[in-house]
Amino acid sequence: MKAAILKSPGDVLKRPLSTEEVPRPQPGAGQVLLRVRACGVCRTDLHVVEGELPPVRNRVIPGHQIVGDIVDGGARVGVSWIGGVDGSCPYCRRGKENLCDSPVFTGYTMDGGYAEYAVARADFIFPLPPTLDDMHAAPLLCAGIIGFRSLRVAGVEPGEDVGLFGFGSSASLTIAVLQAWNCKVYVSTRGESHRKLAVSLGADWVGSENEKPPVQLDRAITFAPSGNVVVAALASLRKGGVVAINAIHLDRIPQFDYDSLLWGERQIRSVANMTRADARDFLELAGKIGIKPNVTVFSLDQANEALAAVKKDAIDGAAVIVPGA
Ligand SMILES: [Zn+2]
Ligand SMILES: [Zn+2]
Repeated sequence: MKAAILKSPGDVLKRPLSTEEVPRPQPGAGQVLLRVRACGVCRTDLHVVEGELPPVRNRVIPGHQIVGDIVDGGARVGVSWIGGVDGSCPYCRRGKENLCDSPVFTGYTMDGGYAEYAVARADFIFPLPPTLDDMHAAPLLCAGIIGFRSLRVAGVEPGEDVGLFGFGSSASLTIAVLQAWNCKVYVSTRGESHRKLAVSLGADWVGSENEKPPVQLDRAITFAPSGNVVVAALASLRKGGVVAINAIHLDRIPQFDYDSLLWGERQIRSVANMTRADARDFLELAGKIGIKPNVTVFSLDQANEALAAVKKDAIDGAAVIVPGA
Protein backbone atom coordinates (compact mmCIF):
# COMPACT_ATOMS: atom_id res chain seq x y z
CA MET A 1 0.00 0.00 0.00
CA LYS A 2 0.95 3.64 -0.34
CA ALA A 3 1.66 5.57 2.87
CA ALA A 4 3.20 8.86 3.98
CA ILE A 5 5.97 7.92 6.39
CA LEU A 6 7.88 9.93 8.97
CA LYS A 7 11.40 8.69 9.64
CA SER A 8 12.90 11.71 11.30
CA PRO A 9 10.94 14.76 12.43
CA GLY A 10 11.74 18.17 10.98
CA ASP A 11 10.38 21.44 9.65
CA VAL A 12 7.41 20.56 7.50
CA LEU A 13 8.62 22.96 4.81
CA LYS A 14 11.58 20.59 4.35
CA ARG A 15 9.16 17.74 3.54
CA PRO A 16 9.91 15.24 6.33
CA LEU A 17 7.18 12.86 5.12
CA SER A 18 7.94 10.57 2.21
CA THR A 19 5.30 8.68 0.26
CA GLU A 20 6.34 5.06 -0.17
CA GLU A 21 5.05 1.60 -0.99
CA VAL A 22 5.03 -0.46 2.21
CA PRO A 23 3.43 -3.79 3.18
CA ARG A 24 -0.24 -3.59 4.03
CA PRO A 25 -0.57 -3.83 7.85
CA GLN A 26 -1.87 -7.08 9.33
CA PRO A 27 -4.49 -6.73 12.04
CA GLY A 28 -3.50 -8.45 15.28
CA ALA A 29 -5.81 -9.92 17.91
CA GLY A 30 -8.61 -7.49 18.73
CA GLN A 31 -7.78 -5.26 15.76
CA VAL A 32 -9.51 -4.53 12.47
CA LEU A 33 -8.05 -3.60 9.09
CA LEU A 34 -9.50 -0.42 7.58
CA ARG A 35 -9.42 0.78 4.00
CA VAL A 36 -8.86 4.51 4.52
CA ARG A 37 -11.38 6.76 2.77
CA ALA A 38 -10.18 10.03 4.28
CA CYS A 39 -7.94 11.24 7.10
CA GLY A 40 -8.18 14.67 8.66
CA VAL A 41 -5.05 16.69 9.35
CA CYS A 42 -4.82 17.92 12.94
CA ARG A 43 -2.41 20.42 14.46
CA THR A 44 -1.16 17.57 16.67
CA ASP A 45 0.06 15.82 13.47
CA LEU A 46 2.23 18.86 12.92
CA HIS A 47 3.66 18.45 16.45
CA VAL A 48 4.42 14.79 15.66
CA VAL A 49 5.97 15.53 12.26
CA GLU A 50 8.06 18.46 13.49
CA GLY A 51 9.16 16.66 16.66
CA GLU A 52 7.53 18.88 19.31
CA LEU A 53 6.07 15.59 20.46
CA PRO A 54 9.26 13.51 20.83
CA PRO A 55 9.42 10.46 18.52
CA VAL A 56 8.55 7.17 20.21
CA ARG A 57 9.19 4.92 17.17
CA ASN A 58 11.84 5.08 14.49
CA ARG A 59 9.21 5.39 11.77
CA VAL A 60 5.54 6.20 11.94
CA ILE A 61 2.60 6.90 9.68
CA PRO A 62 0.84 9.99 11.12
CA GLY A 63 -2.87 10.76 11.04
CA HIS A 64 -5.54 10.25 13.69
CA GLN A 65 -8.83 11.39 12.17
CA ILE A 66 -9.48 8.33 10.04
CA VAL A 67 -12.65 7.53 8.14
CA GLY A 68 -12.38 3.98 6.79
CA ASP A 69 -14.26 0.86 5.80
CA ILE A 70 -13.67 -2.30 7.78
CA VAL A 71 -12.14 -4.77 5.33
CA ASP A 72 -14.21 -7.98 5.43
CA GLY A 73 -16.98 -6.21 7.28
CA GLY A 74 -17.96 -3.25 5.22
CA ALA A 75 -19.06 -0.85 7.96
CA ARG A 76 -17.73 2.70 7.70
CA VAL A 77 -16.17 3.81 10.98
CA GLY A 78 -14.06 6.58 12.48
CA VAL A 79 -10.81 6.41 14.44
CA SER A 80 -9.47 9.17 16.66
CA TRP A 81 -6.34 10.16 18.60
CA ILE A 82 -7.20 7.82 21.46
CA GLY A 83 -6.27 4.49 19.87
CA GLY A 84 -6.46 2.40 23.03
CA VAL A 85 -6.14 2.36 26.81
CA ASP A 86 -4.94 -0.35 29.21
CA GLY A 87 -8.29 -0.67 30.97
CA SER A 88 -6.51 -1.57 34.20
CA CYS A 89 -4.85 1.57 35.59
CA PRO A 90 -6.51 3.49 38.45
CA TYR A 91 -7.98 6.03 36.00
CA CYS A 92 -9.47 3.47 33.65
CA ARG A 93 -10.96 1.69 36.66
CA ARG A 94 -12.57 4.96 37.71
CA GLY A 95 -14.10 5.37 34.25
CA LYS A 96 -11.68 8.17 33.36
CA GLU A 97 -10.03 6.55 30.37
CA ASN A 98 -9.04 9.97 29.00
CA LEU A 99 -6.50 10.08 31.87
CA CYS A 100 -5.14 6.53 31.31
CA ASP A 101 -1.54 6.02 32.43
CA SER A 102 -0.65 3.93 29.34
CA PRO A 103 -2.67 5.16 26.39
CA VAL A 104 -2.09 4.35 22.73
CA PHE A 105 -2.21 7.29 20.35
CA THR A 106 -3.15 6.82 16.71
CA GLY A 107 -0.55 8.16 14.30
CA TYR A 108 2.01 8.55 17.08
CA THR A 109 2.55 5.47 19.23
CA MET A 110 0.91 3.35 16.49
CA ASP A 111 0.59 3.92 12.74
CA GLY A 112 -2.21 6.20 11.62
CA GLY A 113 -4.23 7.10 8.58
CA TYR A 114 -1.96 8.89 6.10
CA ALA A 115 -2.10 5.65 4.13
CA GLU A 116 -4.35 3.47 2.01
CA TYR A 117 -4.87 1.03 4.92
CA ALA A 118 -4.62 1.24 8.69
CA VAL A 119 -5.28 -1.06 11.62
CA ALA A 120 -7.23 0.00 14.69
CA ARG A 121 -8.37 -1.60 17.90
CA ALA A 122 -11.84 -3.01 17.34
CA ASP A 123 -13.07 -1.42 20.58
CA PHE A 124 -11.72 2.03 19.59
CA ILE A 125 -13.60 2.55 16.32
CA PHE A 126 -16.73 4.65 16.21
CA PRO A 127 -19.87 4.35 14.09
CA LEU A 128 -20.35 7.27 11.69
CA PRO A 129 -23.85 8.54 10.93
CA PRO A 130 -24.73 8.22 7.22
CA THR A 131 -25.59 11.93 7.12
CA LEU A 132 -21.89 12.78 7.49
CA ASP A 133 -19.88 12.16 4.32
CA ASP A 134 -16.21 11.12 4.52
CA MET A 135 -14.77 14.56 3.94
CA HIS A 136 -16.94 16.26 6.53
CA ALA A 137 -16.69 13.48 9.12
CA ALA A 138 -12.86 13.36 9.17
CA PRO A 139 -12.21 16.78 10.80
CA LEU A 140 -14.78 16.02 13.49
CA LEU A 141 -12.83 13.02 14.75
CA CYS A 142 -10.35 14.96 16.89
CA ALA A 143 -11.01 18.70 16.96
CA GLY A 144 -14.75 18.12 17.08
CA ILE A 145 -14.70 15.49 19.83
CA ILE A 146 -12.26 17.49 21.97
CA GLY A 147 -14.37 20.63 21.53
CA PHE A 148 -17.43 18.66 22.61
CA ARG A 149 -15.60 17.31 25.66
CA SER A 150 -14.67 20.90 26.58
CA LEU A 151 -18.36 21.78 26.71
CA ARG A 152 -18.94 18.81 29.02
CA VAL A 153 -16.00 19.70 31.27
CA ALA A 154 -17.31 23.26 31.48
CA GLY A 155 -20.69 21.79 32.51
CA VAL A 156 -22.68 23.63 29.83
CA GLU A 157 -26.45 23.38 30.33
CA PRO A 158 -29.12 24.18 27.74
CA GLY A 159 -29.91 27.87 27.38
CA GLU A 160 -26.75 29.15 29.07
CA ASP A 161 -24.48 32.02 28.05
CA VAL A 162 -21.21 30.47 26.87
CA GLY A 163 -18.00 32.25 25.91
CA LEU A 164 -15.47 30.87 23.43
CA PHE A 165 -12.05 32.52 23.78
CA GLY A 166 -10.12 31.82 20.58
CA PHE A 167 -11.84 30.52 17.48
CA GLY A 168 -9.78 27.89 15.65
CA SER A 169 -11.07 24.62 14.25
CA SER A 170 -12.10 23.06 17.58
CA ALA A 171 -14.05 26.16 18.67
CA SER A 172 -15.70 26.58 15.29
CA LEU A 173 -17.04 22.99 15.53
CA THR A 174 -18.55 23.55 19.01
CA ILE A 175 -20.72 26.47 17.98
CA ALA A 176 -23.29 24.28 16.22
CA VAL A 177 -23.55 22.09 19.32
CA LEU A 178 -24.15 25.14 21.53
CA GLN A 179 -26.78 26.41 19.12
CA ALA A 180 -28.50 23.01 19.18
CA TRP A 181 -28.63 23.35 22.98
CA ASN A 182 -30.17 26.85 22.67
CA CYS A 183 -27.14 28.48 24.25
CA LYS A 184 -26.04 32.01 23.46
CA VAL A 185 -22.49 32.09 22.13
CA TYR A 186 -20.01 34.91 22.79
CA VAL A 187 -16.74 34.74 20.85
CA SER A 188 -13.62 36.73 21.81
CA THR A 189 -10.79 36.10 19.37
CA ARG A 190 -7.74 37.56 17.75
CA GLY A 191 -7.65 37.80 13.98
CA GLU A 192 -10.17 39.29 11.60
CA SER A 193 -10.69 36.00 9.70
CA HIS A 194 -11.64 34.12 12.87
CA ARG A 195 -14.07 36.90 13.85
CA LYS A 196 -15.64 36.79 10.39
CA LEU A 197 -16.01 33.02 10.63
CA ALA A 198 -17.68 33.36 14.06
CA VAL A 199 -20.14 35.90 12.64
CA SER A 200 -20.90 33.68 9.64
CA LEU A 201 -21.57 30.71 11.94
CA GLY A 202 -24.12 32.75 13.87
CA ALA A 203 -22.34 33.74 17.11
CA ASP A 204 -24.55 36.03 19.20
CA TRP A 205 -21.65 38.38 19.92
CA VAL A 206 -18.12 38.61 18.50
CA GLY A 207 -15.26 40.72 19.84
CA SER A 208 -11.48 40.98 19.79
CA GLU A 209 -9.38 39.09 22.36
CA ASN A 210 -9.37 42.13 24.67
CA GLU A 211 -13.08 42.78 24.52
CA LYS A 212 -15.31 41.57 27.31
CA PRO A 213 -18.63 39.91 26.38
CA PRO A 214 -21.62 42.13 27.25
CA VAL A 215 -23.07 39.62 29.76
CA GLN A 216 -21.67 37.60 32.67
CA LEU A 217 -20.95 34.16 31.26
CA ASP A 218 -22.16 30.89 32.78
CA ARG A 219 -19.32 28.97 31.12
CA ALA A 220 -16.22 29.84 29.15
CA ILE A 221 -13.90 27.68 27.07
CA THR A 222 -10.44 28.94 26.18
CA PHE A 223 -8.72 27.61 23.06
CA ALA A 224 -5.66 29.88 22.90
CA PRO A 225 -2.39 28.66 24.49
CA SER A 226 -2.27 31.81 26.58
CA GLY A 227 -2.70 32.29 30.33
CA ASN A 228 -3.81 35.88 29.80
CA VAL A 229 -6.78 34.53 27.88
CA VAL A 230 -7.66 32.25 30.81
CA VAL A 231 -7.69 35.27 33.14
CA ALA A 232 -9.79 37.25 30.65
CA ALA A 233 -12.26 34.37 30.58
CA LEU A 234 -12.36 34.24 34.39
CA ALA A 235 -13.05 37.97 34.48
CA SER A 236 -16.14 37.40 32.32
CA LEU A 237 -17.71 34.71 34.54
CA ARG A 238 -20.63 34.89 36.93
CA LYS A 239 -20.29 33.41 40.42
CA GLY A 240 -20.20 29.62 40.23
CA GLY A 241 -19.17 29.73 36.57
CA VAL A 242 -16.51 27.49 35.02
CA VAL A 243 -13.59 28.12 32.68
CA ALA A 244 -12.47 25.01 30.78
CA ILE A 245 -9.03 25.26 29.20
CA ASN A 246 -8.80 23.41 25.88
CA ALA A 247 -5.04 23.64 25.38
CA ILE A 248 -2.27 21.11 25.98
CA HIS A 249 0.28 23.83 26.72
CA LEU A 250 -0.13 27.31 28.19
CA ASP A 251 2.63 29.89 28.13
CA ARG A 252 2.04 30.50 31.87
CA ILE A 253 -0.73 31.45 34.28
CA PRO A 254 -0.25 35.08 35.23
CA GLN A 255 -0.84 36.28 38.76
CA PHE A 256 -4.47 37.32 39.20
CA ASP A 257 -6.73 38.67 41.92
CA TYR A 258 -8.36 35.86 43.87
CA ASP A 259 -11.02 38.02 45.56
CA SER A 260 -12.58 39.34 42.38
CA LEU A 261 -11.78 36.58 39.90
CA LEU A 262 -11.94 33.17 41.61
CA TRP A 263 -13.85 33.66 44.85
CA GLY A 264 -17.57 32.98 44.52
CA GLU A 265 -16.97 29.33 43.59
CA ARG A 266 -15.69 30.08 40.14
CA GLN A 267 -13.65 27.18 38.74
CA ILE A 268 -10.78 26.66 36.32
CA ARG A 269 -10.50 23.19 34.77
CA SER A 270 -8.25 21.69 32.11
CA VAL A 271 -9.50 19.40 29.33
CA ALA A 272 -7.36 16.33 28.67
CA ASN A 273 -7.87 13.98 25.76
CA MET A 274 -11.26 12.28 25.28
CA THR A 275 -13.24 9.18 26.16
CA ARG A 276 -14.99 6.80 23.79
CA ALA A 277 -18.29 8.03 25.19
CA ASP A 278 -17.37 11.60 24.15
CA ALA A 279 -16.63 10.34 20.64
CA ARG A 280 -19.84 8.34 20.25
CA ASP A 281 -22.08 11.02 21.74
CA PHE A 282 -20.55 13.82 19.68
CA LEU A 283 -20.62 11.91 16.37
CA GLU A 284 -24.25 10.96 16.89
CA LEU A 285 -25.17 14.58 17.64
CA ALA A 286 -23.06 15.86 14.73
CA GLY A 287 -25.01 13.56 12.40
CA LYS A 288 -28.33 14.84 13.72
CA ILE A 289 -27.51 18.54 13.50
CA GLY A 290 -25.46 18.16 10.32
CA ILE A 291 -22.17 19.81 11.28
CA LYS A 292 -20.31 20.44 8.02
CA PRO A 293 -16.83 21.89 8.46
CA ASN A 294 -15.15 23.65 5.56
CA VAL A 295 -12.58 21.29 4.08
CA THR A 296 -9.71 21.36 1.59
CA VAL A 297 -8.71 18.02 0.06
CA PHE A 298 -5.12 16.88 -0.41
CA SER A 299 -3.75 13.64 -1.92
CA LEU A 300 -1.42 11.31 -0.02
CA ASP A 301 1.53 12.70 -2.03
CA GLN A 302 0.61 16.17 -0.76
CA ALA A 303 0.76 15.28 2.96
CA ASN A 304 3.66 17.72 3.55
CA GLU A 305 1.71 20.47 1.78
CA ALA A 306 -1.39 19.73 3.85
CA LEU A 307 0.61 20.09 7.08
CA ALA A 308 2.28 23.26 5.81
CA ALA A 309 -1.15 24.73 5.09
CA VAL A 310 -2.26 23.94 8.65
CA LYS A 311 0.94 25.45 10.04
CA LYS A 312 0.53 28.67 8.07
CA ASP A 313 -3.24 28.88 8.68
CA ALA A 314 -3.41 29.05 4.89
CA ILE A 315 -6.73 27.30 4.39
CA ASP A 316 -10.22 28.20 5.46
CA GLY A 317 -11.25 25.27 7.66
CA ALA A 318 -9.77 21.78 7.86
CA ALA A 319 -7.32 19.87 5.66
CA VAL A 320 -8.27 16.31 4.72
CA ILE A 321 -6.06 13.73 3.03
CA VAL A 322 -7.85 11.41 0.63
CA PRO A 323 -5.68 8.44 -0.46
CA GLY A 324 -7.63 8.03 -3.69
CA ALA A 325 -7.44 11.73 -4.65
ZN1 LIG B 1 -5.63 3.10 31.94
ZN1 LIG C 1 -5.92 15.81 16.86
